[in-house]
Amino acid sequence: MHHPDICIAGAGIIGLSLALELHHRGHRVTVLDQGDPLAEASTAAAGMLAAQDPDNPPQLRPLADLSLSLYPAFLDRLYNFSAIRVPFQTHTTLQSLHPKHNSPNELTPADLTAEDLSHLLPALTPTGHRFILLDEHSLDPRQLAAALLAAVHSTTIDLRPNTSLLSTRSTSNSIEIITATGTVHSSRFVDCTGAWATTTSRLSHLQIAPRKGQMVAVALPPSLPLHFVVRTPDIYIVPRTTGPAAGRAIIGATIEDSGFDKSIHPDDIHHLRALAAALLPPIANTPQLEAWSGLRPATPDGLPLLGALPGDPNHLIATGHYRNGILLAPATALVMAQLLSNETPSVDLTSFSPGRAVPQTA
Ligand SMILES: Cc1cc2nc3c(=O)[nH]c(=O)nc-3n(C[C@H](O)[C@H](O)[C@H](O)COP(=O)(O)OP(=O)(O)OC[C@H]3O[C@@H](n4cnc5c(N)ncnc54)[C@H](O)[C@@H]3O)c2cc1C
Repeated sequence: MHHPDICIAGAGIIGLSLALELHHRGHRVTVLDQGDPLAEASTAAAGMLAAQDPDNPPQLRPLADLSLSLYPAFLDRLYNFSAIRVPFQTHTTLQSLHPKHNSPNELTPADLTAEDLSHLLPALTPTGHRFILLDEHSLDPRQLAAALLAAVHSTTIDLRPNTSLLSTRSTSNSIEIITATGTVHSSRFVDCTGAWATTTSRLSHLQIAPRKGQMVAVALPPSLPLHFVVRTPDIYIVPRTTGPAAGRAIIGATIEDSGFDKSIHPDDIHHLRALAAALLPPIANTPQLEAWSGLRPATPDGLPLLGALPGDPNHLIATGHYRNGILLAPATALVMAQLLSNETPSVDLTSFSPGRAVPQTA
């Protein structure tokens, strides 16, 4: 019988990026998913690598910066395994600052003048917004998913779709992973089940909650060749500039606490479109191409959980990436692989400890 060194539950971007990193380090890896791989939050995302979003918790920055630095090598590795090149779709973000964002960090560039904005994006209606330009990339998570899945398939990673994790049982030096179709015995286990992690790991005080985001894709009108992301605290407009989705823009996203419900509501989609059109009027009446939703894995303090469960060194968790799981995947894979290899992680993980004290409200 096949006994992996490490068993991962959850074949989203976090679980599969970690599997690839562990495979690279010579570990035998099994990945279980209750459904199809990469069919949940990781392909619902907009794909912004928004390390500088002023709404991010400041403690996220070192992990986010590490991830950005790893992204080119991560994409190269996917290309080497899959022969699929995932391009960046945009290289700049026009970010509106909320009054509360007086000094989000010391590197904040100066506000753009009305003249700058009219050169940059003549269609923009900047009423009531202060804008800055961020040096920030985005990619298409569907392209990323195709490359990641092909990469995993090209290795000896044992990927098992339709294999639902039910529970785990730790012994002194291994862990039993009980699934709907049998038991897997492994040296270590990593829970990467995203928004579902509270149901799969025994987390006494740190709850992961699904936080729904509805999204809509529209065709960009020829009069609006958009080559960068436009983002305010309420709305973002993310153009696809290359690949099969080129010429569309993703408008998102709602933030809702409605359990595991993923239904799409025309009123909410209409509201997203109205917010986008208030900023970019030519987008008001363009054809709607698609609407979807996904469940972000949210924690009470907005920070991920990375490490071993308290008192259970063989049971680790890597989830709670909330709005930044695409951004944080390469760094998460690296630091979790470092922990599993008994190395010192490249960034201090104290803020992300699964045993940390968390305020009751965030
Ligand atoms: C609308 C929206 C927009 C977003 N935009 C961005 C963005 O622009 N940039 C960014 O960085 N991030 C963005 N995110 C966040 C990002 O998508 C998530 O943080 C990230 O996808 C989380 O990845 P994951 O692998 O943890 O979760 P998921 O992709 O949800 O994967 C979890 C997997 O676990 C499996 N699973 C669950 N329970 C079990 C079980 N019992 N047994 C076996 N398998 C199980 C599920 O089937 C699923 O495949 C966005 C998210 C949403 C919803």
